[in-house]
Amino acid sequence: MNKLVLASGNAGKLKELQRLLAPLGFEVVLQSELGVTEADETGLSFVENAILKARNAARQTGLPSLADDSGLAVDALAGAPGIYSARYSGEGDAANNRKLLAALVGAGDRCARFICALALVRHADDPVPVICEGQWRGEILTEPTGDFGFGYDPIFKPEGLDCSAAQLTPEQKSAVSHRGQAMALLVARLQAQVMSDSTASA
Ligand code: IMP
Repeated sequence: MNKLVLASGNAGKLKELQRLLAPLGFEVVLQSELGVTEADETGLSFVENAILKARNAARQTGLPSLADDSGLAVDALAGAPGIYSARYSGEGDAANNRKLLAALVGAGDRCARFICALALVRHADDPVPVICEGQWRGEILTEPTGDFGFGYDPIFKPEGLDCSAAQLTPEQKSAVSHRGQAMALLVARLQAQVMSDSTASA
């Protein structure tokens, strides 16, 4: 098994990635289990922050590392809350949703998208990180609906669906979400890599 550090403290993400990457020969470990101190997220984009987090974990552990960064970008707000999605109101998910609904009162355009960037580095100074991005388009509802999910799910209506993201089961959501798409791309990239490594060593 190849060990891969997940530059996140989120056990839910670990579980999902473990399920996807174990068949490819990767054992995924949370950075918090290895005593890694968190990176400063000083980038201006999801990709930059994912790379910063991945390099930080690789530097502190000497292991390959995978990081993700995600959030919600609203067209009428010039992409806000964007990389600041988690700390938009400073008071948690419900207050973030209230602040966003208030910011959109009277807005004609309620289009938005969730974005997820994954960055994998083989070592801290890796000049060619593997980057996979997923986007999930939709619009912002006028009030929260649904009990599943987290964050902005109750006020996000995915394109082509007649419900909020918080009305989808976790399985339904990850089949179409920004994170699900980015992970599927990563698995395909790693699968291709494993195949070409095994062909080269045959
Ligand atoms: P992180 O990638 O876990 O740091 O998430 C950043 C923030 O973006 C979260 O705290 C949520 O506010 C928002 N976010 C990211 N992905 C989702 C999602 O799938 N549903 C709802 N909110 C999300």
